[in-house]
Amino acid sequence: MAEAVEKVNLLGMTLPKMIEWFEAMGEKKFRAVQVMKWIHAHGVDDFEQMTDVSKKLREKLQRVAEIRPPEVIWQKDSADGTRKWVMRMDGGSAIETVFIPEDDRGTLCVSSQIGCALDCSFCSTGKQGFSRDLTTAEIIGQVWLAAKSFDKPGQPRERRVTNVVMMGMGEPLMNYRPVVDAMHLMLEDNAYGISKRRVTLSTSGVVPEIERLGDEIDVSLALSLHAPNDELRNKLVPLNRKYPLEQVLSTCREYLRKCGDSKKRVLTIEYTLMNQVNDELAHAEQMANLLREIPCKINLIPFNPFPNSGYERPSNNRIHRFRDRLTELGYNVTIRKTRGDDIDAACGQLAGQVQDRTRRQERFIKLVEAGGTAAERDFSKR
Ligand code: SAH
Ligand code: SF4
Repeated sequence: MAEAVEKVNLLGMTLPKMIEWFEAMGEKKFRAVQVMKWIHAHGVDDFEQMTDVSKKLREKLQRVAEIRPPEVIWQKDSADGTRKWVMRMDGGSAIETVFIPEDDRGTLCVSSQIGCALDCSFCSTGKQGFSRDLTTAEIIGQVWLAAKSFDKPGQPRERRVTNVVMMGMGEPLMNYRPVVDAMHLMLEDNAYGISKRRVTLSTSGVVPEIERLGDEIDVSLALSLHAPNDELRNKLVPLNRKYPLEQVLSTCREYLRKCGDSKKRVLTIEYTLMNQVNDELAHAEQMANLLREIPCKINLIPFNPFPNSGYERPSNNRIHRFRDRLTELGYNVTIRKTRGDDIDAACGQLAGQVQDRTRRQERFIKLVEAGGTAAERDFSKR
């Protein structure tokens, strides 16, 4: 009796891997390029539609391979145009992906892990613990699904996803290989062809992996700073106890240096503002000193509350006061607008349940499938 062979999911293959795979089947290299274009540039998941591939090869591909994105179990548009998807991964857990339209671009916020092990004190993903890493197919699958959701039948592909930020659930550098492979696909001309400046990896500061990253790929880097001294950062970002500020910042500076045309390269500093925790003027001044040697822009994120977080968002007055001080001290500072609040899609609220197959997970998925409100879903988390 013939054994059922597990099909290879081509969605998660980088171009070099796909070429190797086609060549191992005795096929020419250009076949891999053709198939890659169909999958990522045209959003096709059915080999039958690959009209410039011979019928014989299409049949062969059908037998041994598949193009399988994660399953979307819930999708909603916010009043401000933000679109959020909840996707079910193999094993039953859910992750979230958010699309944020702006005047001249569309940014997709992509998840890299189910949960996160780093346990930053103000992050709801961290509070849920770590479940597992996503595969390359599951990471790039979020881009594939988002891009496809804007396609109109019979019309040329709309290129709505112009930017990707690895700022969803998880710490991308704790899932290094799959994340870097997925980013190679984002940059690949035969796939999404997004420019390297428009793909941003955000990290809480995993020093050895930032070093490795700079040797392998050139994307924009964002550092989640959140505190201007080790004492406070140790409390907010526990990873700081392993890789203290000085080490993290010098590694980021080295990353910029490695990535060529360094005059134009800047590090994005993310700083979540929490009322009376890290939002005093003295913190702004200390941050200005700390960052003096680093080409950077600062992005302030007013804290997004979640149940039992123990933190509060500062008043607009305090937020502006903090921003103005940094501006006076010569920094380029922006305040991240809260987007998709009504669909629970803001930074740090991405809280797809993480415990596999638990009753809570099932309740969450049921509520989501029934179109449950954010408040109901919050209730299911307790
Ligand atoms: N793990 C990565 C990327 C994901 S989080 C990192 O930590 O950089 C994306 C950004 O949102 C990070 O800067 C993170 O610190 C911030 N964030 C997390 N929880 C938040 C919250 N409740 N309110 C505002 N920002 C938050
Ligand atoms: Fe993980 Fe980032 Fe959340 Fe910290 S802020 S717990 S690193 S996802």
